[in-house]
Amino acid sequence: MEETKIVNGAWELSTFHFPIEGRGLKTMLKNMKDKKLVGFKCPQCGMVYMPGPFYCRKCFIRIDDEAEVSDHGEIMTFTIGYADVRGNPLDEPRIAPVVKLDGCDSWIMGVLEGVKPEDVHVGMRVKVKWAEERTGSLQDMQYFLPE
Ligand SMILES: [Zn+2]
Repeated sequence: MEETKIVNGAWELSTFHFPIEGRGLKTMLKNMKDKKLVGFKCPQCGMVYMPGPFYCRKCFIRIDDEAEVSDHGEIMTFTIGYADVRGNPLDEPRIAPVVKLDGCDSWIMGVLEGVKPEDVHVGMRVKVKWAEERTGSLQDMQYFLPE
């Protein structure tokens, strides 16, 4: 019989790393310089992912077709942070929405500005606030604003 082991302790999210497939992220970053969001679309089921993976998560076939994604979307869920990862209180609460951009089936996480925490809601329409000078990095997409 297998035994379940419980290890007590904090999970430092700031030190958690996960792999992102290179091609999809490179394509996304390259186009963000021109304020364009580009993912990959499955030719069989039509799912659009951004950053785009090599294989469709549903059909398990290779994906090579790029698809443009809107910089407007809808909040699917969100969290409001009142402390940093070490438990230190923040000066202002930080809203972190998970957004489904129009024309994309995968969701991305970001920061929402320009809204009071009590006014955020699932289904809220938001748009990307682009950096004035873009360099082809994740910082080109600064945060989300209400639409
Ligand atoms: Zn598919």
